[in-house]
Amino acid sequence: PRLANQIAAGEVVERPASVVKELVENAIDAGSRRIEVELESGGARLIRVRDDGSGIGEEDLPLALSRHATSKILSLEELEGVASLGFRGEALASISSVSRLELSSNTSEDPTEGWRVVAEGRQMEPRVSPAPHPRGTSVTVRDLFFNTPARRKFLRTEKTEFGHVEEAFRRQALSRFDIGWTLRHNQKTLHQLKAGDDSVARERRISSLLGKAFLEHALHLDIEASGLRLWGWVGLPTHSRAQADQQYFFVNGRVVRDRLVAHAIRQAYRDVLFHGRHPVFVLYLEVDPSVVDVNVHPTKHEVRFRDGRMVHDFLFSSLHRALGESRA
Ligand code: ADP
Ligand code: MG
Repeated sequence: PRLANQIAAGEVVERPASVVKELVENAIDAGSRRIEVELESGGARLIRVRDDGSGIGEEDLPLALSRHATSKILSLEELEGVASLGFRGEALASISSVSRLELSSNTSEDPTEGWRVVAEGRQMEPRVSPAPHPRGTSVTVRDLFFNTPARRKFLRTEKTEFGHVEEAFRRQALSRFDIGWTLRHNQKTLHQLKAGDDSVARERRISSLLGKAFLEHALHLDIEASGLRLWGWVGLPTHSRAQADQQYFFVNGRVVRDRLVAHAIRQAYRDVLFHGRHPVFVLYLEVDPSVVDVNVHPTKHEVRFRDGRMVHDFLFSSLHRALGESRA
């Protein structure tokens, strides 16, 4: 079982950024209003995610580290979609099988209460001991891949690994304006983002995550038609130093990479603007959940629209119109 765990772990735990992604997703699922991410040495030495969410009760704490431990109710459809991939309820188990993991939590408002459980590469007696913690959860992951040297060797430089972490953080912070976020690396605070869902707070966050120049050369749009809403920012060609990788597309709050979406945006951009410019954008598509299947693959940001043609045409015409008007 130990080997099986470690093999399965590879599916979820590729590098520090994948650990951050999973831990932050759990923090979001727990209804947190504040999430703090802290790393040392690109995450190879330490990854810590603290939240102020619902917390995990004493008796559930060791369970949270075991396989298929999900407390999340899945629809039959979701189960059918992901059961064969076996990713649900596996993240914490997988991470703990390739690291030294500490999980502390408190479900009450009393900060003198709280419990902790420690695991080390799967060699753990799930012993729970009292440990004061404010309401919410902290997960600390030390020495990632300490027991899988081959995998550890695949880790790149500290700078590269942290770059991936920052990108994962950026996506998650862009997906939830109503949550306050902090990102720290080697005791330095790199992002401190206040929660706020009004347009001022949103633009402040965009600037802070993507740089001031992004917004200075971007068009804000908000278009609704036939049950679809597209809002966000799209870069104008006046931004000569736009970074080609600043492309963020969210469907109902989930980051998505999709060929149909990319194609619609590229077409609109090419039709209206200059050739040879990479489109840059932070766009949010809101659709009725019944017309989209986001669970095609839980780790790969894929999406399947019931009516792809309709979504494509809506994206294309919305962007085409907005960009065209901005040129006129
Ligand atoms: P999944 O998220 O798919 O359920 P995980 O292995 O990521 O599986 O987490 C296992 C369980 O541990 C979750 O279902 C949840 O009950 C609990 N859990 C993990 N992280 C947190 C957290 N930050 N706050 C509250 N509960 C958590
Ligand atoms: Mg999870």
